[in-house]
Amino acid sequence: SGGDSEDKVYKVGVDTTYPPFEFQEDGEYKGIDIDLINAIAEDQGFKIQLEPMDFSGIIPAMQAGELDIAIAGMSITDKRKKVVDFSEPYFEAGLSLVTAEGNSEIKSLEDLNGKTVAVKKGTTGANFATENKDKYGFEIVQVNDSTSMFQEVSNGSADALIEDYPVISYAIAQDDLGLQVVGDRLNGDNYGIAVLKGENDELLKKINEGLANLKESGKYDEILNTYLGDQ
Ligand code: GLN
Repeated sequence: SGGDSEDKVYKVGVDTTYPPFEFQEDGEYKGIDIDLINAIAEDQGFKIQLEPMDFSGIIPAMQAGELDIAIAGMSITDKRKKVVDFSEPYFEAGLSLVTAEGNSEIKSLEDLNGKTVAVKKGTTGANFATENKDKYGFEIVQVNDSTSMFQEVSNGSADALIEDYPVISYAIAQDDLGLQVVGDRLNGDNYGIAVLKGENDELLKKINEGLANLKESGKYDEILNTYLGDQ
């Protein structure tokens, strides 16, 4: 079906806002994920259309056949591997605990007894919080996007939040959010590009080939440097 695949426009699920991976500037989406998937598509000769949505909606949309590809700072996890196939890893991440700037009471998970922790629905952070809330005695408040999660803590509605380290450190460096990272990272993981499991071997092969070519040509480093160069 060669003719078919040349005309096909792959729908790519991205998070609504997840700087430096995806964010809007002057009405345009940009960021590491956006530049990477555009460069992969160009390298491999396929067309894409971005479909920004709440992170928690991305895998369900793939399962409903509404998305072909997801690149959304999405961590490769065993649970997700039951429903999607991931590309080779493209970025190292992991979770951090975050509090309001100047909070000296919460220094680690041990200090969360009786506290409220904000998380973003459907994320590894939400999953980590769910698995640990009884052990450490905290309550969870779930929100739809990272901006709302940051606000929960900066306006005092929640005592802490859990976010990917590269995302929160970028956000704190860019804006005066009134937030601080607490302690060591809670875990480590890797981002991958996802396609619906079992049905997309050819597309996944192209994604992996494109990614390898970008790493080889220096384009991958150039993209990372565009957003992280001054950090
Ligand atoms: N990396 C985290 C996850 O995979 C968060 C992703 C996101 O919020 N876009 O769940």
